[in-house]
Amino acid sequence: MAVFNMLENVEDLYEIGEVLGSGHFGQVREVRERATGARWAGKFLKIRKCASSRLGMERKNVEREVEVLQALQHPNIMALKDVFESRAEVVLVLELISGGELFDFIAEKENLTESDAIDFMKQILLGVGFMHNKQIGHFDLKPENIMLSDKMAPNPDIKIIDFGLAHCLQSGEEYRCMSGTPQYISPEVINYEPLSTAVDMWSIGVITYILLSGLSPFQGDTDEETLRNIIALNYKFDDHHFSMTSAMAKDFIQKLFVKDQNERMTAEECLHHPWIKPLTRKQVANRNRSSINMKTFKKFNAKRKWKMSYNMVWMCNRLHRLKLLCKTSAQAGEELRPCESDQEDTETKPASLIRRRLSNSS
Ligand code: AMP
Repeated sequence: MAVFNMLENVEDLYEIGEVLGSGHFGQVREVRERATGARWAGKFLKIRKCASSRLGMERKNVEREVEVLQALQHPNIMALKDVFESRAEVVLVLELISGGELFDFIAEKENLTESDAIDFMKQILLGVGFMHNKQIGHFDLKPENIMLSDKMAPNPDIKIIDFGLAHCLQSGEEYRCMSGTPQYISPEVINYEPLSTAVDMWSIGVITYILLSGLSPFQGDTDEETLRNIIALNYKFDDHHFSMTSAMAKDFIQKLFVKDQNERMTAEECLHHPWIKPLTRKQVANRNRSSINMKTFKKFNAKRKWKMSYNMVWMCNRLHRLKLLCKTSAQAGEELRPCESDQEDTETKPASLIRRRLSNSS
């Protein structure tokens, strides 16, 4: 376990800037290091301080995210610089990733060949392979968590973000977890079976399928239907949407949509698949001729963005109602009452945050 110590105030060292995004337990804001002027991203996480509270994250989960990020120093994985904490909040100072989401970048293009898409897939696989070699599963790979370092660069770098659900698998441990995003989760997650890093490989299959066709392979009209489709392996490459897709790309996806985790392609194997690493001139030519279905992809992305905004508004409203309910109940002296820390959470300012240097990281 990471050992933390000593103590400085986050705002003494960083100027807190604009909001870059929001997650389940707080916001990500741009921060500027006062000493150097360098720009970083500060992830402000509310901490739940008693088990009965429904507000905030459990401290042990934040510590797990920190430990995972400390272990992952790779060009395609968002880097962790520093950690600050108070009783009610933790701030992770992270590498600032300013190029936005990969899917948004692609949606701005008029056309894209499979070769262009493969350049990005390769980087995703390198980052994921690095994690998996350390027995760390991300467990929430989806387009929102795949960003670009700088979209103006001629060859922008992929950066994998959000290690909130990541887990380091210990040998002999059976790790089960039923979280994730319905469209991207694998059958073993739904069945609450012991998980392996192969969970991420299934999600890479889904991401590749969407990238090439603009369709989500298992999407049903409801989440229940989506989950049923995943368990039944109910997907197809319909001729209309996959008319521009190479046979190698379909083979790549098929080898990821495999129910048995042990039979699914690993990141290492993916990197050697002929779609990613063509062996013959004919394979190279096939890749260059095949392209992404941009019309449907743009539609998929627009719908995804709309849904994300809708979810964010819904989550804010729900949190607001929960806080109101807690306050009203407390005033009425009812049983349903937030723990002290919930009330404190809403009032804590970043100024009260204290730095904990990760003593085993420097
Ligand atoms: P998260 O809570 O990690 O899912 O982050 C919420 C949102 O904040 C993401 O969807 C991104 O839009 C944004 N974000 C997270 N980390 C960074 C970062 N290092 N640099 C820039 N934006 C980020």
